[in-house]
Amino acid sequence: MPLYADIIVNISVSALDRPFQYLVPEEMEAAIRPGSRVDIPFGTRNVTGYVVGLGRTPLVDPSRIRPVLGFAPKGVALEDRAMALAAWMRERYGCTMNQALATVLPAKKAVRKGKPKLPAPAWEGLEMRPPAVLNGPQIRAAQAVEEEMAGQNRPVLLHGITGSGKTEVYMAVMEKVMAAGRQVILLIPEISLTYQNVRRFYQRFGARIGLIHSRQSQGEKYETVEKARKGELSLVIGPRSALFTPFPDLGLIVIDEEHDESYFSETSPRYHSVEVAEKLAQLSGAGLILGSATPSLDSYYKAQNGVYRLEKLEYRAVEDSTLPRVEVVDLRREMKEGNKSIFSRSLKSRMEERLAKKEQIILFLNRRGFAGFVSCRSCGKPLLCPHCDVSLTLHRGGFLKCHYCGYQIQAPEICPSCGSPYIAAFGTGTQKVEGLIEKTFPGAKVLRMDADTTKGKEGHSRILSAFARGGADILLGTQMIVKGHDFPRVSLVGILAADISLYREDYRAAEQTFALLTQAAGRAGRAGIPGEVVIQTYQPDHYAVEAASRQDYEAFYREEIARRRLLHYPPSGCMLEVLVSGREEQENTALAESLAEQIRRGFASSGADVIGPAPHFRSKVQDVYRQVLLIKHPDKELLLQIASRLQETGNGRVQSDLY
Ligand code: ADP
Ligand code: ZN
Ligand code: ZN
Repeated sequence: MPLYADIIVNISVSALDRPFQYLVPEEMEAAIRPGSRVDIPFGTRNVTGYVVGLGRTPLVDPSRIRPVLGFAPKGVALEDRAMALAAWMRERYGCTMNQALATVLPAKKAVRKGKPKLPAPAWEGLEMRPPAVLNGPQIRAAQAVEEEMAGQNRPVLLHGITGSGKTEVYMAVMEKVMAAGRQVILLIPEISLTYQNVRRFYQRFGARIGLIHSRQSQGEKYETVEKARKGELSLVIGPRSALFTPFPDLGLIVIDEEHDESYFSETSPRYHSVEVAEKLAQLSGAGLILGSATPSLDSYYKAQNGVYRLEKLEYRAVEDSTLPRVEVVDLRREMKEGNKSIFSRSLKSRMEERLAKKEQIILFLNRRGFAGFVSCRSCGKPLLCPHCDVSLTLHRGGFLKCHYCGYQIQAPEICPSCGSPYIAAFGTGTQKVEGLIEKTFPGAKVLRMDADTTKGKEGHSRILSAFARGGADILLGTQMIVKGHDFPRVSLVGILAADISLYREDYRAAEQTFALLTQAAGRAGRAGIPGEVVIQTYQPDHYAVEAASRQDYEAFYREEIARRRLLHYPPSGCMLEVLVSGREEQENTALAESLAEQIRRGFASSGADVIGPAPHFRSKVQDVYRQVLLIKHPDKELLLQIASRLQETGNGRVQSDLY
């Protein structure tokens, strides 16, 4: 049967809608693949095109389909880079070439020009303040990046505590890259795209900056992209989509807060920006800096193994600014001693003190991944799966289930560890806490920041700038308040329930908790006024809480990596997480089971460890039932093979993520 190729001749999003079909000559069949650059007859000319799909079904009368002439020589054009990146994403994330290209190719259509939503005049008239004179560790870090760029070009992981001056390092390297006529992409989490954070870059680089953010109109985005393509910009700052800015000579990519969850795309291709940046840096011969106070375990593991180069900044850059003093409060004890309030006695008295002194307070309510786990209020122990070491979650009918392996028990009425009857599902909302603050501290002005209060057009920036201007005494919020903001008058950070994120039914729960607590604590005392942090928790002895209270990343890493090794969780092995969804519950379970069985049989000799299927912790979403399969194996390639096999047999109902 002849093979046909779908080929686009002009690389753009709109061209994806109308690829042309060509016949693949037999001698090219083995080597041709999506992403291949080929010569084809087009009208009366011969042109170069790109393969976006392959198939055996002719769309028109086969006698009218013309053959591909041959492979075209590889060029170095911008288009080839986008094509190569898309082809790589297609393999790595198991999506179609069209999906990959639609992600990689920035918006090409100009839409009507709306008014800019981030007020442009705010950037003008900034005093150009001179760059900081770098300290020793900062100089070493900047040199390390330049050394790598001139040599092996490994990504550099810049592990620096909050306030250690990572941003100054980025800017120093950026300046050199720009001076050489090359361009820079800086990714920061969307939430950090506020005036306060971007301001420093404008002070340094002025009009050569373009900004991309989710509240922009298509027209604004298009304008920025076009300016970048023409080389009129030197730096584009934005969230993960900014990675695909079509710069003519990309010289450097910087990913700030590289551990951040927002760098994972949730739609197909479900890519991870750090991985894509690595590939893009390779394709463009650009440097890559990953910066964080709490690097992801994956990145730190790579740095330990020499895949990344590790550079550290261990001290705060501003004189007189030290890390805050941290007190861990045991909520079990508060309860035993008769205090059932959500404020421990210590936090309450410290808050009263700050309110009297007119210093500001941040209260952080950890609600990350809250999903019906059950724990004991007397001894603090959550109910865990004995096989997987992740939290069990409460389901209809009073059952506790493990969403990794399907283990299930009837919810006990007393705590299996200590016998206490105070065992219950966990959780309080921000709104309720706001009410409690107003009752406990009459007269205190509170700003609440959560998904509800940040919906509007200006979103979080309105609340953050009101707080920065001193418009409230207390900022209460969820994880969104912990990211990269600098409030000089905040001298107390209270973490109301450090535990919640520990109970996520996810092998990365401890990692995310450590990062949240460490970053939240880092908000206290950034300039002159000494900072204090109170961490309230039911598990003061948990290693993630303990290490965070000492801001000790290394200690956390050692403990966590040992646990991952024991259970073969990434990064010590690789894991494929497969989601099978369908509208009929039983039929979907049956499909998941049969897929699991296929993998068990088909890959029996490889030693792949197939766990499940089990219901996902959100087992039914919008009337679609979801089952999870986990497959562990040290070899990434093998798991990719399994993923594509599942893709073929799963009738479009299978989605997989490779960790
Ligand atoms: P990070 O990005 O690691 O949180 P920043 O780069 O924002 O740290 O630096 C924290 C504070 O220290 C900022 O106010 C910055 O201006 C200041 N700073 C950084 N490096 C220096 C330096 N070498 N000399 C003086 N101040 C510095
Ligand atoms: Zn107990
Ligand atoms: Zn389990």
